[in-house]
Amino acid sequence: MKTRIKGGNIVLESTCLVADIIVEDGKIAAIDSNQTEPVDREIDASGCIVLPGFIDPHTHMDLQQSAQFRAADDFYSGTVAAALGGTTMIIDHIAFSEAGSPLMTSINRYRQLARDAAIDYGFHGVIQHVDDAIIAELKHIVQSEGVSSFKAYSTYGYPSDDVALLRLLAALKEVGGVLTVHCENDGITKYYNDIFARRGTVAPRYYAQSRPNIAEAETVGRLIDWAHQVGDAAAYIVHTSTRQSLARVRRARQSGQTNLFVETCTQYLMLDESLYQGDGKTAARYIMAPPLRSGADREALWQGLFDGTVQTVGTDHCPFMLAEKQLASEDYRKAPGGIAGVQERGLIMYSEAVVKRGMSLCDFAKLMSTNAAKIFNCYPQKGAIQVGADADLVVLDPTKSYQFDGQTLASNCDYSPYQGYRASGFIDKVFSRGALVVDGAKFVGERGAGQFIAR
Ligand SMILES: [Zn+2]
Repeated sequence: MKTRIKGGNIVLESTCLVADIIVEDGKIAAIDSNQTEPVDREIDASGCIVLPGFIDPHTHMDLQQSAQFRAADDFYSGTVAAALGGTTMIIDHIAFSEAGSPLMTSINRYRQLARDAAIDYGFHGVIQHVDDAIIAELKHIVQSEGVSSFKAYSTYGYPSDDVALLRLLAALKEVGGVLTVHCENDGITKYYNDIFARRGTVAPRYYAQSRPNIAEAETVGRLIDWAHQVGDAAAYIVHTSTRQSLARVRRARQSGQTNLFVETCTQYLMLDESLYQGDGKTAARYIMAPPLRSGADREALWQGLFDGTVQTVGTDHCPFMLAEKQLASEDYRKAPGGIAGVQERGLIMYSEAVVKRGMSLCDFAKLMSTNAAKIFNCYPQKGAIQVGADADLVVLDPTKSYQFDGQTLASNCDYSPYQGYRASGFIDKVFSRGALVVDGAKFVGERGAGQFIAR
């Protein structure tokens, strides 16, 4: 099957070019305007922007968060939603297994769970305990199993202590892997949660105060120092939400640290802690960790996107149904944590970054795709429009708009955190390795067509 995508404004890495893309055998075979040989299918993209398929570096499909709560989307519904939003690859943060399990236990379980994925996917491995056997296994997995990034938590059920973080950073540096870290100081969050529990100030309006900015920034600072200490090891901060964390990253980079990577998420750019102040039922929709922050933090994150402090925007897509969230309407501890966003991210970021704030299309493509592919070791197969790369492509019509409605989005979740938001732009077509998976905002791909991408 040979396809010509004709006359679109193609976003390359350092320039845009109105030309045709020839797709053959799932790959980009040519980018030019003079190629006239016959094709099986021609797509008119004139007037549209053609971008590399977006990569969401942070999702939680099919997550069993606790005995009581399982995330609303599995790998099929979640990747259909992703595709409709222009995303052609997710890198999923997989769940813990039983205490004491080898690292491959969770990875093997997710290989089964992800079989129905509609677009390509990778996994970040997950750290629970660290000992000699885990370190040896970690190195083996990076070299032989196609999973080159791992996530450590500084809080929750399996917090990695300082020694564990140091060992992980050093081991991953040896084999060219990346440590991603959920940064929230366990002691600070416990301290406030204890106080709030004793005082009975556990309504959602107290939620942001229970996990203050400093909890994140402290751990970001420590991670940066440890990564520096073991020789500028690669450290990736997931879902960064505070201005204080960004300040620490800037300081470290100014003093020469190069392997620091910062992700934020759509929700920390778009929503803020004022949403916790309304009635408890509505506020409970936004329970997630880290919590939504102040307007000043939002502004600092936007600035960070434009000055290069932040490399990627993920979603931390981990939705739960309204009835589940509303269990927390009087007590924030009762809600499962997380919100949706895998479908909304692409158009929100296009509207807010490109249309409203004037980001160049090249920088937008880096933020949504190229940077994640480079950091997570799947570039240039993914993350760029170039000859030989996978034909993962988004055809975006800038003259149309699209309004989000939780009832019509593809996620199984029954609400959208961005309900009613009208995005500039319309995702008209999406190709996954050359196969048309979205046509006119309809999913036309196949269950199970997604492939595991070894990174
Ligand atoms: Zn997450």
